[in-house]
Amino acid sequence: MKLYFPVPKYNGNYKEGMAQFGWPRARGRLHAGCDLYAPFKSDVVAITDGIVVEVGDFYLGTQALAIRHEGIGVVRYGEIVEIPESFYKVGAKVKAGDIIGKVGQVIKISAMVHLELFDGTKIGPLTDRTKGIKYYNDGVKRDGNYQRRADLMNPTKLLDRLLLEGIR
Ligand SMILES: [Zn+2]
Repeated sequence: MKLYFPVPKYNGNYKEGMAQFGWPRARGRLHAGCDLYAPFKSDVVAITDGIVVEVGDFYLGTQALAIRHEGIGVVRYGEIVEIPESFYKVGAKVKAGDIIGKVGQVIKISAMVHLELFDGTKIGPLTDRTKGIKYYNDGVKRDGNYQRRADLMNPTKLLDRLLLEGIR
């Protein structure tokens, strides 16, 4: 299986401060993904082959594309822009390394991809604003208010692996 790091021009640290998984946000919410800093509108690529399972608008004029990657889970590439039309539909096939969009920017100081991981054992929308959901996955705080589907995972280990083994 060919693997790619999702943001070739990545230049931040997804284990530090606000960028890391689980970092507190406003109103008791916890950060549901890792932030991958990179130049605005640089490429975002599929980490491996997969199928689009969710696509649409995300925060503040950005979009998100969620892809089911066999053996990895569902990866949501969030806060991206310019998703190609061919991938803007559920069921679309994606190949490893395909350009699936460009790095977006929701706050002026930092362009980034907000990347989330789900183990794929649940169905339904990835964003779930129900409070008090019981999370059970490794690396996910039990009863944490992530506002995400209950199969949310911590993507840090996956990103570590992609930095080591992935093509950039
Ligand atoms: Zn984020």
